[in-house]
Amino acid sequence: MEKKQYVLGTYGRAPIQMERGEGSFLYDTTGKRYVDFCAGIATCCLGHCHPVVVGALEEQAHKLMHCSNLYGIPGQEELAELIVREVVGLDGQVFFCNSGAEANDGIIKVARRFGHRHPAADGSPRFEVITFNKSFHGRTLGSMAATGQKKIQVEFDPLLVGFRYVDFNDMAALRAAVGKETCGILLEAVQGEGGVNPVDADFLRGVAELCREKDLLLMIDEVQCGFARCGKMMGWQAVCPDIEPDLISCAKGIGGGFPMGCFWVSNRAIDAHGTTLSSIMTPGSHGSTFGGTPLACAVSKAVVSEILRLDLAARAKKLGEYMKQTVEGWQLPCVEKVRGLGLLRGVALRPGRFAVPEGKTPAAYVSELCREVGLLACPAGADTLRLIPALNIPEDVLNEGLDILRSVLSKLA
Ligand SMILES: *Cc1c(COP(=O)(O)O)cnc(C)c1O
Repeated sequence: MEKKQYVLGTYGRAPIQMERGEGSFLYDTTGKRYVDFCAGIATCCLGHCHPVVVGALEEQAHKLMHCSNLYGIPGQEELAELIVREVVGLDGQVFFCNSGAEANDGIIKVARRFGHRHPAADGSPRFEVITFNKSFHGRTLGSMAATGQKKIQVEFDPLLVGFRYVDFNDMAALRAAVGKETCGILLEAVQGEGGVNPVDADFLRGVAELCREKDLLLMIDEVQCGFARCGKMMGWQAVCPDIEPDLISCAKGIGGGFPMGCFWVSNRAIDAHGTTLSSIMTPGSHGSTFGGTPLACAVSKAVVSEILRLDLAARAKKLGEYMKQTVEGWQLPCVEKVRGLGLLRGVALRPGRFAVPEGKTPAAYVSELCREVGLLACPAGADTLRLIPALNIPEDVLNEGLDILRSVLSKLA
């Protein structure tokens, strides 16, 4: 009954078909149950089919789903206020879109406009954004060009111009890379897809200082790290709460599984006249038909309110520490260490310590072994298994998943 020949083959999919979800469990079409340590890649932050999320969706669907941004949308304003005040905690404004790639394209556009308003000494617009090796920012032409991974860009060149990649956490390399055309620096607090690599606090502080020194925008991709995932509402807050970003992109967890994304722009004054950064994005400068529909905003508001009400950031911090200590405590030879923050964790495998079948990465192989025995955990890079369960995963389910992981890893070793 499979009809996969009709779907474009852009994904390397597991040979199972998902049918139903409930909390931190997923069920495939054969009825097999999985403990979900993937959570839609850090998206289903409240688990599957959470009653608060389903309730908000149902209620708003009966009222109004879509009306266009030609009109005011009260739910959008309420959600924006929540994000500005309770999530980012810095004065700014929010643009709503539908995905992480779109959010990153949006902040790249803001950076380019800023580069026109604040040109180089010779008057030519600045347009270059520095990003980092092993970063991931999305699959659109803009966000793909921003991504510091060659494998994402194969045969899609020529790429959008205006990006330069340097090694993550290397301040000297970053300083050396800033040129006359540079207008911003874009980074993740924890590189998710690139292998769960956290930014060093000193480096992040250094980037923030460099940005002020050279009149660059500090751009943070919170698509995977944000919304309590790393133990604070935003990933950067878990690393270095005293910095003040200029632009922040969000998606994934913001919608709890509903397609939603946004970017936040600081209200910081960028010149002596008090012009704010947010004010340079004037009417007509950006838009999205589906951005911030009443339906998406109602769902997202319910998700974000629930995260705040239950202080799931603190829970992520606590459970994340527990996960790290548990896995490292097994002292298995195939595990080097556990990296990451909060409930964004990566088990760094020691590939030399176990046999991996031809054509598979160690992480993909371990992920497959876990899936066969009922645990979903996705790779992050070639050698890292990512553990990103729902923020509200019950402790007994967390332990059930960890037990499965232990049995798989023990057999490898
Ligand atoms: C997933 C991800 C993206 C892309 O988000 P999409 O919604 O797939 O476009 C961008 N940045 C980071 C850090 C991500 O993890």
